[in-house]
Amino acid sequence: MRTATSEIDLRRATSVDEALAILGEERRTPVAGATDVYVALNFGTTPERRFLDIWALDELRGITMRGDILVLGALATYTACLRSPLVRERLPMLAEASALVGGVQIQNRGTLGGNVANASPAGDSLPVLAAADAIVVLRSLAGERRVPLAEFFTGYRATVLRPDELIVAVEVPPVAGKQWFRKVGTRAAQAISKVVVAGVRGPATRFALGSVAPVVVRARETERALASGASIDEAMEVLGREIAPIDDVRSTGDYRRTVARNLLRRFWSDTA
Ligand SMILES: Cc1cc2nc3c(=O)[nH]c(=O)nc-3n(C[C@H](O)[C@H](O)[C@H](O)COP(=O)(O)OP(=O)(O)OC[C@H]3O[C@@H](n4cnc5c(N)ncnc54)[C@H](O)[C@@H]3O)c2cc1C
Repeated sequence: MRTATSEIDLRRATSVDEALAILGEERRTPVAGATDVYVALNFGTTPERRFLDIWALDELRGITMRGDILVLGALATYTACLRSPLVRERLPMLAEASALVGGVQIQNRGTLGGNVANASPAGDSLPVLAAADAIVVLRSLAGERRVPLAEFFTGYRATVLRPDELIVAVEVPPVAGKQWFRKVGTRAAQAISKVVVAGVRGPATRFALGSVAPVVVRARETERALASGASIDEAMEVLGREIAPIDDVRSTGDYRRTVARNLLRRFWSDTA
């Protein structure tokens, strides 16, 4: 039987430098855990047939500290995030999100870099990284650039990533305050989020949402309302005006807005 994978042209890189050289010379799509790419190939939603397998690049797999910055390698899997004492201590909301991604097989193969590059508004790590003010580290043969997550996404499934660049890491500065994550889907596991949120309650309260806009969003007006002492009912009103979710196959805009408002209330009471 022929499948989409019968037709693909795959090169495998054994070092980051080799991968960047190949991306610089040839037009190839990086493939990490392949959990999104494989689905896109089989559903015929990608025209790509020339791939560069980066799975073997162990230099991109680490989860480490540089000073007080948590550095998550692009190839860090959800399982690695779940098991990492550094993630559990510094960014527990990422461990919570990782535990709810797909099933164990997807957690073993799916990577953080893949979730970010795939740029789905429903990517579960994205509200966490947005609430943590994370920085995406991009590298090409021309050098490295650091892009704040808020500037990385330019529209629905669109990013500033160039064809000659790889995401090599995501950097997370210290996050002060209580962290909170919640995903609402059709069922507890193996479900794409209808609404996914991450919040931090501390000196600078942050609230980020996925699946309510073409890109992950920070609810800045709601954050400002809470910071200036608004009641939670007032903040929920602000959030209801601030987001404009759409109807799609998974949910309606009205349902998403109601859920987002209720999650804000839950965030506020759970972190009190
Ligand atoms: C059954 C199933 C359940 C799932 N459940 C969830 C879920 O609950 N929550 C969720 O958020 N996602 C879910 N996903 C989606 C997917 O697993 C995640 O988005 C995962 O993080 C993708 O990582 P990957 O390494 O497999 O990416 P890949 O499929 O390898 O790549 C995805 C995209 O990112 C690009 N890319 C990958 N790595 C890099 C890099 N380092 N630099 C530049 N570009 C790169 C690729 O070119 C491609 O465009 C699910 C998928 C499946 C099949």
